[in-house]
Amino acid sequence: MHQGRRIEVVGIVQGVGFRPWVYRVATQLGLQGQVRNDVSGVTVEAFGEPSALDGLVQALSSDHPPAAEIRSLRWTEIPPREAAGFVIAPSLPGTGRRVSIPADLATCPACVEEIFDPSDRRHRYPFTNCTDCGPRFTIALDAPYDRPVTSMAGFVMCDACQREYDDPLDRRFHAQPNACPRCGPRLQLLDAHGRDLKSADPLHEVAAALRAGSVVAVKGLGGYHLAVDASSPEAVRLLRERKRRDAKPFAVMVRDLREARKLATISEPEAKLLESVERPVVLLRAKRARALAPEVAPDNPLVGLMLPYTPLHHLLLADVERPLVMTSANLSDEPIVFEEAEALDRLRDIADLFLTHDRPIVTRCDDSVARVVAGAPVLLRRSRGWVPRPIPLARPVARPVLACGAQLKNTFCLAAGDVAVLGPHVGDLDQLEVHRSYEESIDRMQRFLGCRPEVIAYDLHPDYASTRYALDRPEPVKVAVQHHHAHVASAIAEHHLDGPVIGVVFDGTGYGTDGSAWGGEVLVASAGAFQRCATLRPVALAGGERAIREPWRIGLALLLDAYDGDPPGLWNFPAIPEAAGVLVRQALARGVNAPKAHGMGRLFDGVGALVLGRGTSRYEGEVALAWNLAAGAGAHGRYPFGIDSRGALLELDLRPMVRALVEEHLAGVPAGHLSAKFHDTLVHATAALVGMVRERAGGFPMVLTGGCFQNARLAEGLKAALEPEGKVYLHRQVPPGDGGIALGQVMVADATTR
Ligand code: ZN
Ligand code: ZN
Ligand code: FE
Repeated sequence: MHQGRRIEVVGIVQGVGFRPWVYRVATQLGLQGQVRNDVSGVTVEAFGEPSALDGLVQALSSDHPPAAEIRSLRWTEIPPREAAGFVIAPSLPGTGRRVSIPADLATCPACVEEIFDPSDRRHRYPFTNCTDCGPRFTIALDAPYDRPVTSMAGFVMCDACQREYDDPLDRRFHAQPNACPRCGPRLQLLDAHGRDLKSADPLHEVAAALRAGSVVAVKGLGGYHLAVDASSPEAVRLLRERKRRDAKPFAVMVRDLREARKLATISEPEAKLLESVERPVVLLRAKRARALAPEVAPDNPLVGLMLPYTPLHHLLLADVERPLVMTSANLSDEPIVFEEAEALDRLRDIADLFLTHDRPIVTRCDDSVARVVAGAPVLLRRSRGWVPRPIPLARPVARPVLACGAQLKNTFCLAAGDVAVLGPHVGDLDQLEVHRSYEESIDRMQRFLGCRPEVIAYDLHPDYASTRYALDRPEPVKVAVQHHHAHVASAIAEHHLDGPVIGVVFDGTGYGTDGSAWGGEVLVASAGAFQRCATLRPVALAGGERAIREPWRIGLALLLDAYDGDPPGLWNFPAIPEAAGVLVRQALARGVNAPKAHGMGRLFDGVGALVLGRGTSRYEGEVALAWNLAAGAGAHGRYPFGIDSRGALLELDLRPMVRALVEEHLAGVPAGHLSAKFHDTLVHATAALVGMVRERAGGFPMVLTGGCFQNARLAEGLKAALEPEGKVYLHRQVPPGDGGIALGQVMVADATTR
């Protein structure tokens, strides 16, 4: 008895080897029919014995290619019909492009084996890929994803590659970037002036140069990296000098997990994250290892490691036999360089050599950065490997929305139907170069998704470049979204929460509805509205923005506030410079150029400066991070604090903590102990605050969001403290910091304009 079934699969099922996989399973089961890509995913029509059809449905729901992700699978009976075997049918053209372009995938184990196999025709070929792996988003020019609209269009496949591409049983069936040494892209080695060195074995020469201490610009997947030997203090110092980058940690690439374990302590979930197809930079506890020069991450107990994600990386790391600094090639704070002419021009004074190739990068995409918090990954930067993977929404947006993001660590978000797509990490929008890259990136993503936004969402801050961009857009419907409301809404979106939540939002700074800087907030919020229920007692930022680079100013303000203007032995704190300190003290007393800020991040800055004796941050948040990481593992304890009620708004008063902490510091208690107690106090005080809000507003689910929740100790501690009260959510799909905020802007804009 023959039957027929139509099976519709929705999710990440295009560009990941899904159809050939279905073909193989269906053929093995003796089924007839076809599989094809369509606008919403993949549709299978299969005819045969009911038991074989059951087998196919079973296989689809329990087992599929590693890079595929199935969101839904539905099947219906259809009348049986005679078919000639099982075929992969041509894609149906359609107007909707909801599935669009896949994210880039790290080289799969089968391809790695081939490039190290001397008998394989792809031995040492740096552009090897298959349907399970290789470039996708970064080489795509248009949708749907097909070779003629990728930067592989200019390469004509040789007979051997074409046979693989056409054979449904081959691992390279319809692998769009398929290539080999005969027909595909080639490496080229250039000197600092861009002259072709006509190297017969560029990888080998680059490895030798790196071992000798050179700086090499390496063209990767989403842009150029600057590479140096990470075990050589001289080489790393040279890179810092030339790149004009003081202290910001560099990411390091190591050959495999075994090598990574020599440099850092790695838990099971951290190992999984390192080896995932997305291959982010993973922040790990560094071991004291001679293989890693201290200059890689000065004064920082963490190190960012990543494993090779292209064949080029695998071959290079194998040849060098040392860990390599692999940092985005740019001048400080500019976007990553991705075009050859641009690379040669802008990196001329930084790189001694250029290892480049003739496969153009279409869209720049930085490395993603992640760490494990409370046993699972949290993304600090969501870019290569994740972009443009759609984030499913609990309910479709009424009209397509473009959310323009914030100012720092900017990403944008486009939403249409029931998915939202976050763009790649763009960076800090105050730079002109960054701004251009931002606009290009938005245009391209609109094309990929075939979507014209009708609603524009942006941050309430009038001076953000993203706000100006939003206001210049032609679309008439625009929605300004309060920063912390957007943070909470991004958590609501990714966890498919419905109805109000209690959002604890701790970050550096965001524009409040009263025009002041918020950032230590407890909100009761849904996508459509929010109420500010509690906040952190503000501290004055003497010198405004300057206080962020010179956190001793915040430390001084905290002292003056905690001791009513008369702190004990102000000059006992080496972070506070005497002459400037006197002036700032006067300015604070008169309230001149000292805007008040509620940001939790600023508290870390200020207390860290006082206790650690570090008055300045060489990059944003350096002292705050150092203060977080100073916390001793076994130390615990609590300082006193107060909670004031100002009408409907609760205010957390940490002046008692500052006084107790300062006294212990002056009595010689070590910083590790003070930092641990500081964290415990914040956890305890926040839990108390949330408890009061729950009593007043209701026992809603709780979300922890904002950049401060990159801090594992704070996030894990608060989650554990709140969990007995109800469900607590951390970010898992989008960054807790401003890199995830555009998703929340989408939610708010959609909810308020329906
Ligand atoms: Zn592969
Ligand atoms: Zn070929
Ligand atoms: Fe923020």
